[in-house]
Amino acid sequence: MASLAPTPTSSYRGRLAPSPTGYLHVGHARTFWTASQRARDAGGSLIMRMEDLDPERSKAAYAEAAIEDLRWLGIRWQEGPDKGGPFAPYVQSRRRAIYLAAWRKLLRRGYLYPCRCSRKDLETALGAPHERVTGGAPDAQPQGKLELLDDEPIYPGTCRNLQGKAPQLPGPTVSDIETPDGINWRFRVPDGEAVEFEDRNLGTQRFVAGEDFGDFVVWRRDGVPSYQLACVADDAAMGITEVVRGADLLKSTARQILLNRALGFDNPLWYHCRLVVDHNGRRLAKRHDSLSLRAMRQRGLTPMNILSAELPVEV
Ligand SMILES: [Zn+2]
Repeated sequence: MASLAPTPTSSYRGRLAPSPTGYLHVGHARTFWTASQRARDAGGSLIMRMEDLDPERSKAAYAEAAIEDLRWLGIRWQEGPDKGGPFAPYVQSRRRAIYLAAWRKLLRRGYLYPCRCSRKDLETALGAPHERVTGGAPDAQPQGKLELLDDEPIYPGTCRNLQGKAPQLPGPTVSDIETPDGINWRFRVPDGEAVEFEDRNLGTQRFVAGEDFGDFVVWRRDGVPSYQLACVADDAAMGITEVVRGADLLKSTARQILLNRALGFDNPLWYHCRLVVDHNGRRLAKRHDSLSLRAMRQRGLTPMNILSAELPVEV
């Protein structure tokens, strides 16, 4: 069986970063396959990292299924939760110290502020109490996870300037705070600054801070670092040289470029894959069970069928 990952001959380091919040679907298969091909073509390494930070939605069974499904597809990696490696652990829920260090660095450098807005406050300020803010895909994510969405709504700035207005009392300053837990922490974006980057698949991308995205959450009040923070901290710590992921994360890339700059990390190269959509033109969500790799496999489809089928993509 050709089950061994090739021995790397270059310094390229790519990654596969599944979130175990459901079964992988055909869209994930395409993106992860592209990531594995790019690592292989570069003679580099592929690192598997399990992004299981969301304590409510992540399930161990989905993490196991993701590894099994990717192996079944024929994807091989050199480092990961199942293989170990020099940057272990490869499971985000066990890397809290790394995220805390990044949070502290941002705090001391003055990029963060605590946000006391409740979800209700934000919904009221945004004037859309019952509407989801996920663009054209209202069913792509379950309710109640604003922080994890790429289309996190633009924060109205309620808490942004509270620090300066509070009377200065003797005692600990914000940078003496030891733990981020219990309150949301936001990253102050440079309003009006254009963040431009060259995507190796989709060409030049440009997003304006404060217009396309606002001050975003880096640490949630429930003690969980945000996707944006964990992602840049891990990509830097694991020496990732190219990030291959879905085009739904383009705006996250702009946020992550700002985080990398604030943290003094180099940017990896970026390669975003067009998204597979269903026959109604909607992005695939994990709830599209019939398009999960499991279901397709049970129907007798082979990896070749899945990877070579003509599927509509978002343009
Ligand atoms: Zn606030």
